Amino acid sequence: MLRFTRKQVLVAAASAAALSAIGGCSLEEETPAQSQPGQPAQTGADADAWHKTVCRYCGTGCGLLVGTKQGKAVAVKGDPDNTVNKGMLCVKAYFLANVLYAKTRITKPLIKKNGKFEEASWEEALNLIVTKFTEIKTTHGSDALAFYGSGQASMDESYVYNKLFKGFIGTNNVDGNPRTCMASAVAGFNQTFGKDEPMGTYDDFEKADVFFFIGSNAAEAHPILWARIIERRNKNPHVKIIVCDPRETRTTQVADKKLIFKPGADIALLNSMAYVIVNENLVDRNFIDSYTNFAQTVDGKDEKRDWNQYVEFLQQFKPELVEATTGVKAEQIYEVARMFAEKSKETISLWCMGVNQRIRGTHTNNVIHNLHLITGKICRPGSTSFSLTGQPSACGSVREVGALAHLLPGHRMIANAQHRKEIETIWGIAEGTIKPTPGRPLMRMFQGTVDGDIKGMWVMATNPGHSLPNVNKYRAGMEKCFLVVSEGFHPTRTSELADVILPAAVWCEKEGLYGNAERRTQHMAKAIDAPGETKPDVWALLEVAKRMGYGDYFKYNSIDDIFAEYRRCTVGTGYDVAPLERLRKERGVRWPVVGDGMGTEGSIRYAAPWDPYVKAEEKIKFYGKPDGKAVIFFRPHLPPAETVNAEYPMYLTTGRLLEQWHTMTMTGTVEQLNKIVEVQTAGEGWFVEMNPKDAESLGLKDGDKVRVTSPRGQLISKVSLHGRGTPQPGLLYMNFHDPNVETLTNIVVSDAVDAASAQPEYKVSICKIQKI
Ligand code: SF4
Repeated sequence: MLRFTRKQVLVAAASAAALSAIGGCSLEEETPAQSQPGQPAQTGADADAWHKTVCRYCGTGCGLLVGTKQGKAVAVKGDPDNTVNKGMLCVKAYFLANVLYAKTRITKPLIKKNGKFEEASWEEALNLIVTKFTEIKTTHGSDALAFYGSGQASMDESYVYNKLFKGFIGTNNVDGNPRTCMASAVAGFNQTFGKDEPMGTYDDFEKADVFFFIGSNAAEAHPILWARIIERRNKNPHVKIIVCDPRETRTTQVADKKLIFKPGADIALLNSMAYVIVNENLVDRNFIDSYTNFAQTVDGKDEKRDWNQYVEFLQQFKPELVEATTGVKAEQIYEVARMFAEKSKETISLWCMGVNQRIRGTHTNNVIHNLHLITGKICRPGSTSFSLTGQPSACGSVREVGALAHLLPGHRMIANAQHRKEIETIWGIAEGTIKPTPGRPLMRMFQGTVDGDIKGMWVMATNPGHSLPNVNKYRAGMEKCFLVVSEGFHPTRTSELADVILPAAVWCEKEGLYGNAERRTQHMAKAIDAPGETKPDVWALLEVAKRMGYGDYFKYNSIDDIFAEYRRCTVGTGYDVAPLERLRKERGVRWPVVGDGMGTEGSIRYAAPWDPYVKAEEKIKFYGKPDGKAVIFFRPHLPPAETVNAEYPMYLTTGRLLEQWHTMTMTGTVEQLNKIVEVQTAGEGWFVEMNPKDAESLGLKDGDKVRVTSPRGQLISKVSLHGRGTPQPGLLYMNFHDPNVETLTNIVVSDAVDAASAQPEYKVSICKIQKI
């Protein structure tokens, strides 16, 4: 096990640039005062103003300060007053200002005519959208339209498009890209606790003794949180980090204990830990009896069970019995279970896409929660089950605002008549206006473009033409429908398929709000004007609403009006956000914050004295459930959607690099980040990582050109045997950043979905690899 200081972690994780960013500093290169598109931003040494904002990238939600001079963003530094990152930032954010000046920025609306994009006026573009959407609605019904949003849109933007489509255009076909990354966490929280989102916060990191990671490569995907955890361990040698993953990663390399388990065996592994905890009486029976119920899902219905039945259920997961299934030796499971459950210790579980991007993702979330519920290591400082998120406002803009096909604002459910009525009242529309049936979630929405049922779609701040699994199938669908894309950059793998592209203001070019993974609503100031004719997405949405005849219901004079209306949707729900005037001044406020929203922010949910919804005498109350009790679910181990066979003998899993973000529409424009990747990966950064034993048996060596084939398609890549990770034998790994249309990783990735969450199974696909 390696031990690093916080500084070393950032160096190892990224580059010298990240190290210098610890205290906050400016961009490396001096450039002319008037930065032009394509040029790097200026040094921050001479910035004449600094503006409070939030990082545009991952769900950590680091607070940043952006330095400006003469109307240009010239530098970024970590905000020392923001408790999320305490002045630190990772290498991506360090170069964030450069993104604004990318050569690929679009500054005028574009309309495709005869297969080619031509510049157009806003008037022309907006009128075309309104004409086409109205025509489709009239001819085919409102459910032939859809909106695909993003955890990168701001909360006000998401609130407006959700309202426009569900309340006025008349379709619940509104979904967002968090469906690809955290829908299973949403379903897991809802099933177990009756309400979405974690009960803990980042404050717990400084109080935990044991960090249990599963399906998370935090060292690359959440480097600032990882740095906080490493710092905690360095200052407190008793602190232990356990990491479970099918692949050796930068995160496993620093763990005190690592378990490399077989792809798809996570539930067997977690239930086996529960077996040990129960069998060795490491449980908290008082907590179990006071605050939990047991349930098993039979034929789609949850049936009540009891403690004895749970003990009986776990017998099949005795560590010795699951060695073959999990690939983990029994003694390792015993050891990790004891570390997790040690009575005097506080334990946090952290997980991300490795758990959620599975057809058993929701069940895996349930079983992680089970471990905390049976040990009572939940709802107290330092102990919690905490899902990490991938986008800056997947929680705020999509979960909280209710911009998924089954949700309404304030985590209300479309299927709930009372919930619909409450929102109809706030939106000023007649009762019964919102359709009672949930819309199409992600994959059904895009299947609709393939089948011809979805004839018009608006995509905002996301890139499904690159990021969807089995992507070529759905690219063909997108080409068929009338596609509107709101984007800051062009071409992307989605904008190239569009009929209309709306040039969007990006990040500090507009005012907005993000909500991060710890329930923190954060305000971002507008620091500079957007270039050319680019506009905030909310402006385009309001123009379309007005032109479609709904203007009376969208009379907002400013973001204050939008957020005040959204805040009304949250009051009294347990998701109560703070008012905008407070958020403008502070470094974010965690919900729930009740009353006038000016009181103490929420910290530990469901527990007194931290949660205002729980009375002192109740101590702990899972108030999302009618009886206030969380549910310990019996979840069976079942195989992934597809299993290896003679034709496809390997599994493939996917992930990301620290320096690039998602589909690289932003980070890919930053020369310095590309250079770091090039130096560290001896290439552009795309490769097939494989175990050296597999390479040897297949006669492959580092750098060999290979064809990767799955039942869905094929791509050409090259072998990497000394990457940042090492998959176990039988497993291949690729990051999904590669933007080249012929080699998109998602060409070969499975599009099977979790039945409960509708999240695709990116993490387990079958394939074969051949030298070419
Ligand atoms: S850790 Fe995430 S939020 Fe923080 S600076 Fe890096 S990319 Fe931005």
